[in-house]
Amino acid sequence: MGAASMMERPAANAPIEEWDAYLHLRDNPDGVTRELWYHEYGCGAWLVVTRNTLTHEVIKCELAEKVAAKAAKKTAGAAS
Ligand SMILES: [Zn+2]
Repeated sequence: MGAASMMERPAANAPIEEWDAYLHLRDNPDGVTRELWYHEYGCGAWLVVTRNTLTHEVIKCELAEKVAAKAAKKTAGAAS
């Protein structure tokens, strides 16, 4: 799908430049990267896969909903 940072969507009223970058600009990193994967022919889950693009080693695999819940909790914690 793309980088796991796709889960960090800009606010609806964010500047057009921010939306342009979110929708169109992609990094192509070499080394360890976090990606958003969709298990289309399996259970239909969204996953955050940490892998090395040079060695193809899969380092970590997490359910995207758990990563999002953890990020939301962190944001709520920072606000209080
Ligand atoms: Zn699955």
